[in-house]
Amino acid sequence: MNGAPSLRVALQTGASTVVYRIFAVGFAFASVCGGAMIGLQLRAGLLGEPEGTVMPFVPVAFLGASVFFHWLVWRDRASDVELSTSGLRVLRGKKELLAWEQIDGPHSALRENRNVVVTVNGRATAQQELVLRLRNGEARVLAVSTDPEEQRSFEVLLHNIQRACAPSVVSDEGPPEVLRCPSCGAPAPVALRPEVRCWRCDSVIVIHEPIQRRLAAATRADGERLALTRALNAALEQPEAAVANRYLLASVVSPYLVPVLGCAGAELLPAGASATMALISLSNLQFRRRAALPGLASVFAARPPEAPGAPLRCRSCAGPLPETPDALVGCPWCEADNVRALSLERPASLWAADQEALGSFLDRKAEAAWWPRAGVVLWGGLTLVGLVYALLPA
Ligand SMILES: [Zn+2]
Ligand SMILES: [Zn+2]
Repeated sequence: MNGAPSLRVALQTGASTVVYRIFAVGFAFASVCGGAMIGLQLRAGLLGEPEGTVMPFVPVAFLGASVFFHWLVWRDRASDVELSTSGLRVLRGKKELLAWEQIDGPHSALRENRNVVVTVNGRATAQQELVLRLRNGEARVLAVSTDPEEQRSFEVLLHNIQRACAPSVVSDEGPPEVLRCPSCGAPAPVALRPEVRCWRCDSVIVIHEPIQRRLAAATRADGERLALTRALNAALEQPEAAVANRYLLASVVSPYLVPVLGCAGAELLPAGASATMALISLSNLQFRRRAALPGLASVFAARPPEAPGAPLRCRSCAGPLPETPDALVGCPWCEADNVRALSLERPASLWAADQEALGSFLDRKAEAAWWPRAGVVLWGGLTLVGLVYALLPA
């Protein structure tokens, strides 16, 4: 973590709870309705043997399934993790800080569960667990996911945990054209100034005209770059796990309140049902927004400095990046866009994982959030109409 400030990363976006929630509530209603129907038939003596003995188990089985899916919603709810120089803190439950010295990096791993496979668009993904091992032998499952993008961010997270537990030697890597300190060879902290000082040995490094031009091109702020910076800032403004989980809880509880509302007055039913749908859309929107973070962290994050005081490094060519207060920083050496706000180390296996441009990635994420957003507007509007209808004097 090389002196970097603490960094919050989405451990689990919460997106997998969307499907579990449908089953959880669906089985609960099936259990209650099925139970009521069978009860009535039994009382009327309509069920002979063996149906009279077997049928009452059906609603019980439905209830069991509902409890199981509620547990899955609870297990896969949104969570964040905070990485800092002292250790790692999972922002869920006890929020206990695990110091790097407590963590057994080499034995922490991604565990695949081939019994649970989800197929989306013809691509099968087995469930993966991010398992953290502690030096006292304890194993903790930090997160579970069947989403490929989320799994890639598990890989990045594991890599960063392992590196933090066993700091590697400074490698001075970078493309050959990178500006280096003439005395010690460290990559120079490039800036739009005629000269800079080396972060390692304090020698003066002259920045010549061609490099100044490359820097100016990488840090230019034209309309296109401003639009990209705005889109990135919007994507980085993430609902925290705790906030997303509050919406999740409301969307799980509200379907059960609709029948209660119906008992209070049938005219309240349309407003209650629409409000439930609005809450479901709202929670889906939170998860959709959070879904941008794993991709940003695992593909577009700039690499952290190799030592305190050293410049951030490009995600693609490892060249030193110019200093900028923006979340977005262009690489003067290879022109790749880097997300400065999330500086994470990526495992070598992921270096060429994604050739997508940052702009099209952000567009794709914004498009995916369109449906839940439209749902919030539609169902919110219908809730208001329903309320007006219920409250108008007959
Ligand atoms: Zn130097
Ligand atoms: Zn680069």
